[in-house]
Amino acid sequence: MDSANEPGPAGKTVVLAEPRSFCAGVRRAIEIVEVALERFGPPIYVRNQIVHNQHVVRALEQRDVRFVSSTDEVPRGSVCVLSAHGTAPAVREAAEARDLRVIDATCPLVSKVHQQVVRAARDDRTVLLVGHMEHEEVEGTYGEAPERTHVVATVDEVRQLDLPSDTPVTYVTQTTLSIDDTREVVDAIAARFPDLTGPGTDDICFASQNRQNGVKALAKRTDVVLVCGSANSSNTVRMVEVAQLAGVRSYLVPDITDLDESWLAGATSVGVSAGASAPEFLVDQLLDRLAELGFDRIQVETTGSEADITFGLPSAAVGAPESKESN
Ligand code: SF4
Repeated sequence: MDSANEPGPAGKTVVLAEPRSFCAGVRRAIEIVEVALERFGPPIYVRNQIVHNQHVVRALEQRDVRFVSSTDEVPRGSVCVLSAHGTAPAVREAAEARDLRVIDATCPLVSKVHQQVVRAARDDRTVLLVGHMEHEEVEGTYGEAPERTHVVATVDEVRQLDLPSDTPVTYVTQTTLSIDDTREVVDAIAARFPDLTGPGTDDICFASQNRQNGVKALAKRTDVVLVCGSANSSNTVRMVEVAQLAGVRSYLVPDITDLDESWLAGATSVGVSAGASAPEFLVDQLLDRLAELGFDRIQVETTGSEADITFGLPSAAVGAPESKESN
């Protein structure tokens, strides 16, 4: 679909992925903090970044939202929001032991994975968690059953697992992985453990899937793909990798000041998308700069629709201030 922004024949093209930028889980997490600010007044404490984007965090800090890495840093009795990426039960218990008013902003799709782990552990199955150990989401999911869970990120790590092949195994995945990489790891798990249950690649959330499909489509029709978002955002970094694997130059643009114009050398078309935690104003700033550089013809590549997807807010945020949210 061409926009009204038609240039002269010399104009270079931007192809904009749709959907892009905030997903329903990120919008919900930010709204939870905003509602908590209104209901309880500042300061509100948030354990870890509420979503992985420096602009979102800075804007909330200006409203006296205080980000901490441990609930031990939160004064007793204060409101403490747990981030969208999910939290281990031990962290929630520690927060409750400090008498914090806990509001859990875990994305419901991450909570679903936590529940899969709880069920598998209850059934005495070994859990293989496909994901990256250093990511907060994996830390939280792992914390549901640490004594039964192994984290694996690659086919080699699956091969190296010190487990008998008749082990009853359930695998789950981080929600923001590359669909193609995950399929390979799941195939390796299936090859080693016949007594296997798992969700396929369905734990990878719709937002990650749509955004990955988007950059794949951009890679087919543009010379360079730029992805707005932060370097600590898993789904955003995967988008850059997916575009690169699809055969184009692709770069992360955390902020417009990070755009290196040499990336565009020789390009007549640029694909633009944004990770699920990246605000849309970053895309607007990038489009303005690209227009100044001659990329003034805008087209849209649609690979999905998220218009109807919303998640409700937890009761601890909206209507029951004394209750403590549990996962
Ligand atoms: S990227 Fe997926 S799992 Fe993460 S908050 Fe968005 S919808 Fe939820």
